Amino acid sequence: MKTDPTCVFCKIAADQMPATIVDRRPWAIAIRDINPQAPDHVLIFPTEHIPSLADCEDGTLLGDMMLLAKEIARKVHVDHGGYRVVVNIGKHGGQTVDHLHLHVLGGRRMQWPPG
Ligand code: 5GP
Ligand code: ZN
Repeated sequence: MKTDPTCVFCKIAADQMPATIVDRRPWAIAIRDINPQAPDHVLIFPTEHIPSLADCEDGTLLGDMMLLAKEIARKVHVDHGGYRVVVNIGKHGGQTVDHLHLHVLGGRRMQWPPG
């Protein structure tokens, strides 16, 4: 499995950096975002270092991440009101951490279009 010792999400997955863990699987981890953009803002990422969605061909992993997003939404109780799942890809997509992740945002009404 690929990891990057300079990557913050790899460090969190390896317990080398603290994070508020919401859920953990052998293949993925869900943590609270350090700079939440909604009352509930959870990040889901694979334990393997994959830089972005653009670098991922693993449909099973991507499908499992989406299913985990639904579970996390239930776990943090945003499933009834509704929530948003976001993937930022590259510079124009607003990606700042180069390790594939989903954002699960909830607890408030979202705006459209996003900024
Ligand atoms: P991106 O902008 O790449 O889509 O999302 C990266 C997210 O990771 C941002 O929302 C940012 O607040 C969050 N983040 C960056 N560094 C850390 C960290 O060390 N711990 C946690 N929990 N979140 C982080
Ligand atoms: Zn990484």
